[in-house]
Amino acid sequence: MSVINVLPLNLRNKIAAGEVVERPASVVKEFIENSIDAKSTRISIDIMRAGKKLIRVSDNGTGMDREDALLAFERYATSKLREEKDLINISTMGFRGEALSSIAAVSKVRLTTALTLDSLGTCIEIIGGDIKEIKDCTATGTTIEVKDLFFNTPARRKFLKSDTTENYHISDTVTRIAVSHPHIGFVLRMDGDEVLHLPEASSHRERLMQIYGKEFCDNLLENNPQDNLTGVRAFLGNSANLRNNKNNQFIFINDRPVRDQSISYAVYRGYEGLIPKEKHPVFFLFLELDPEKVDFNVHPAKREVRFADKNSIFNLVLNAVKAAVRNQMIIEGPETAGTIEGTIEGSIVGNGQHSYNSGLSSSYPGSFSSVQSNVAEQHLDYSGFIEKIPFLYLGDTIIAVAGRSGLTLIDYHAAHERVNYELLLKSSSTISFRLLFPAQVKLQGSEYRVILENLGVLKELGLEVEDFGHDTVIVRALPEMLRDTDLNSLMSDVSASLINEARPLGDEKIASMDSSKKAIAARMACHKSIRGKEVPDSARIAELIKALDATDSPNTCPHGRPTRISITLDDIKKMFRK
Ligand code: ADP
Ligand code: MG
Repeated sequence: MSVINVLPLNLRNKIAAGEVVERPASVVKEFIENSIDAKSTRISIDIMRAGKKLIRVSDNGTGMDREDALLAFERYATSKLREEKDLINISTMGFRGEALSSIAAVSKVRLTTALTLDSLGTCIEIIGGDIKEIKDCTATGTTIEVKDLFFNTPARRKFLKSDTTENYHISDTVTRIAVSHPHIGFVLRMDGDEVLHLPEASSHRERLMQIYGKEFCDNLLENNPQDNLTGVRAFLGNSANLRNNKNNQFIFINDRPVRDQSISYAVYRGYEGLIPKEKHPVFFLFLELDPEKVDFNVHPAKREVRFADKNSIFNLVLNAVKAAVRNQMIIEGPETAGTIEGTIEGSIVGNGQHSYNSGLSSSYPGSFSSVQSNVAEQHLDYSGFIEKIPFLYLGDTIIAVAGRSGLTLIDYHAAHERVNYELLLKSSSTISFRLLFPAQVKLQGSEYRVILENLGVLKELGLEVEDFGHDTVIVRALPEMLRDTDLNSLMSDVSASLINEARPLGDEKIASMDSSKKAIAARMACHKSIRGKEVPDSARIAELIKALDATDSPNTCPHGRPTRISITLDDIKKMFRK
């Protein structure tokens, strides 16, 4: 007897939904894309409870007649492809014909639509893929509504993140699409509040102004817009528009938001030597490519693409970025740049002088080998009472320290993060530094909302923030350790940590604490920790090692990366086959 089943239609659609509908934002994306393909000029989006309760997208596009409205929910039903050869020349956002059938399989959908000139429209209700009702109605354009997403796939529902995170993904999705379609007006409402209102704009720059404000746009460099031949339009942050995270980096190919590592890499290459290593530029790249040279049919949600000639795209982007940023940005490389190689080399060729960044360095002239023998003679053990610890700077933020029983490699940035992190979380009420003049900080819409939702947690960490309206907050007090920090980048970092909910690791003792509090503390700690730029002196290293030893989890930073790695003398002897 045969053991193979051909799956029933409903189950097939549910399986497809697994690929297309990852979270509420995926539904929003598919609906908006359909509205764009239907030539809409105004699209409004209503969200209740982060899309878990309601997602509604209304447009003023072409609409559908009854026959099409019913066909639209069939799997592989599309008006955008007719035959195979069309696949290599796609100019619409959709083409796979599976979004509506997949979404309808895992939610309760209501569609109202009418052809532009038809007075009579159609209203269809579908629950879990089954049509429940078809009736007449009046409509202009199309409105599609999803309630109770994943109501019949509880496992998926469980994977949804907090409302804050899901709301962030929705507004990020709408923002990305809105940036690439300036000629379409968008309104996004969340739980009744209008969070984005973007009237039709005449250019990309105008749309960016609507979303990010004038100050942000004044700090965007642009490649020559006259130079249309290149096929790349680039808006790139200048040195006043750098971030500690990658949240504001956008790539569009033929108006479609995509992610592509090699294009991002080309952008960073274009900035090479112009920005510090730990900073990230904001960028908006619009590529117009011959549809035959790029395959969008790689990912079910069309997030990724494949190029016929990856190298030429890489060079195209690299050159566009270089042209826009060179001569316009002040060189701002890390202070140690250029000396690092020298340092390492120095220690190998026997000029130990530079490699020793220590108060005791003068007693260790000469080569690497003489250092080791001296260490052995003096039984230097860093865990003891020494006020200055001699160390060897290896590069980046890594140093090597000799201990009684071997060698310890320490990432001093990670070590400092661990120390600061526990300091922030453990002091029952973190000591705050009250600003003499409270500072106004303008944020981006999604950052602003996530900060407002977490004012209580921020306060517990010593960061006193108030709403000032119009995407602006007022900072009144901040943790003492962050006294001199740049508030714009601190607030943007804090919101990024809430959005991404990066759960810090390795804190058994503080496991019970609220995860957003830990995520913020981890980000604040990172903000204040010594970076590659500032190689610490031996007294500071001694202090740091002592403080690290006193933490609960001295072996990992709040993100779970190691702070120190020890190699025992026995291990080393084995390497020498002794
Ligand atoms: P695809 O977009 O890949 O064609 P979908 O499942 O998203 O597949 O949509 C199926 C079809 O339904 C579309 O091809 C289009 O003809 C029609 N459709 C969906 N949404 C709209 C809309 N908002 N306005 C007009 N037609 C729509
Ligand atoms: Mg579609």
